[in-house]
Amino acid sequence: MTDSVLVVGAGPVGLTMALELARYKVPVRLIEKATERAGTSRAIAIWPRTLELLDRAGATSELVEAGVRVTTAEINAGEKQIARIQFEGVESPHKFVLMLAQNETEAILQRHAEATGVRCELGVELRRVTQDDKAVAATIAYPDGRVQTESFDWVVACDGAHSTVRHNLGMSFDGDLIDNDWGLGDFYLTGAPFGPDVLANYFHKDGPIIYFPLAPNRYRIIASLGPSKGDRPVPPTAEEFQTLVTTRGPASIKLGEPVWISAFRINERQVQNYRDGRIFLAGDAAHVHSPAGGQGMNTGMQDAFNLAWKLALAARGMAAPTLLESYSPERHAVGAEVIAAAGKLTKMALISNPVLQDIRNHVAHLILGLPPVKHALVGQMTEISVGYPHSSLNGPYANASPKPGTRMPPIDGETAYGLGDTPLFTLCANEPPPFNHPLVSSAMRPATAANDIALVRPDGYLAMSARSGDWDSVRAYLDRF
Ligand SMILES: Cc1cc2nc3c(=O)[nH]c(=O)nc-3n(C[C@H](O)[C@H](O)[C@H](O)COP(=O)(O)OP(=O)(O)OC[C@H]3O[C@@H](n4cnc5c(N)ncnc54)[C@H](O)[C@@H]3O)c2cc1C
Repeated sequence: MTDSVLVVGAGPVGLTMALELARYKVPVRLIEKATERAGTSRAIAIWPRTLELLDRAGATSELVEAGVRVTTAEINAGEKQIARIQFEGVESPHKFVLMLAQNETEAILQRHAEATGVRCELGVELRRVTQDDKAVAATIAYPDGRVQTESFDWVVACDGAHSTVRHNLGMSFDGDLIDNDWGLGDFYLTGAPFGPDVLANYFHKDGPIIYFPLAPNRYRIIASLGPSKGDRPVPPTAEEFQTLVTTRGPASIKLGEPVWISAFRINERQVQNYRDGRIFLAGDAAHVHSPAGGQGMNTGMQDAFNLAWKLALAARGMAAPTLLESYSPERHAVGAEVIAAAGKLTKMALISNPVLQDIRNHVAHLILGLPPVKHALVGQMTEISVGYPHSSLNGPYANASPKPGTRMPPIDGETAYGLGDTPLFTLCANEPPPFNHPLVSSAMRPATAANDIALVRPDGYLAMSARSGDWDSVRAYLDRF
């Protein structure tokens, strides 16, 4: 068999994409232009929904072993606590947000990808892509100086915010640069008044400062530095970081040696279409936004989970390529929501007028104390409430809840949906169907309380539901593919 899919870029999204495709027995190549892996921590939060989906490839336990479990997020202003949000009640086997440096996440994903037979080709750069309706021609530069054009059935661009593929396709990356500089530092520290399982956010009149635990006494600190100055944001020195900590709180914290200091500005941008013919965009190549909420890497990895099963079915000739048409609308809607939510959170944290700051703190305290608001916020942060309510893949439904497009939580004691080396739908029903279908797993699950028959997509979202015995509806749904 030829290599049918080229994955460009071996960041967390490209690694997830290659791992999922290889797990589904799709011949795949993974190329990365860097000659060695970046050693910096960058994205540090892995949310429960991502852990659920990575579990199917067997990567979650190793990630959880390596990381730090955070079960509480706090918002404080000086000594006053504005909100305390707990993840322990989340309806997922993973009731925490995992903190792990991105370089470690990438190393673990790479090991798992290699174990499924994908080699990460370092120092190999995609220069150019062109396509017709049969194949994509990719011009690739190798470390020994060779530059050659090779043919693939599909290309997935996971080549980051400055995507070569996106530029090549002439896609515009619409959005804005937010006029504010941020400092970022990983420090060993002492004197934290919060526990090692707490993500602590301090509002202050000069701007917010946030502490993310990374290891015993080691934290990622992010602080706003005020309106942008110059062409590039200037990273604060270790002494300037200590001043930020002492001023904004908690003053008891004493910073030790920095592990990494950097600075950034926030871009909020998204492509209109995540697909152009046989080429797909995923991760930062398709959307970038504020790191507030820590959703960037997770959203990108979930682009990969969404695309992998569809591409695997199309590449293996098990479903019509029209299935792939759902990828961009489904993931564009999620990306747009993440950009809007992260942008709002950032603007709220950056309010500089003292009167408005008091109002914000008061209102946030009231609203975030309401259980339904907390529940909705936890669903959004952990990404378990992310779904595809308007997807063209949604079939009919028998009951008002859950509706097609809703995530189906792994049932206690049962493994996740979409296991195995072929992406199959799962039937939840109390009697076997009167037919076998190549897209349906032979392993059934009991009917859920709300539905007599539920059909669940390989990525764990409800496809359709029907009244008991209405197998014709199920069959008609599957025959669309
Ligand atoms: C300082 C910082 C802190 C962050 N914090 C968070 C956080 O807390 N939570 C969060 O969710 N996100 C965070 N992010 C964002 C997160 O790092 C990105 O969303 C994530 O890395 C995106 O993954 P990706 O695989 O799409 O792209 P990238 O990680 O950028 O990977 C793209 C890869 O493609 C390679 N590449 C590019 N062009 C080519 C080419 N032509 N040929 C071959 N290879 C190519 C690049 O070398 C790179 O390795 C942070 C980012 C930064 C910089």
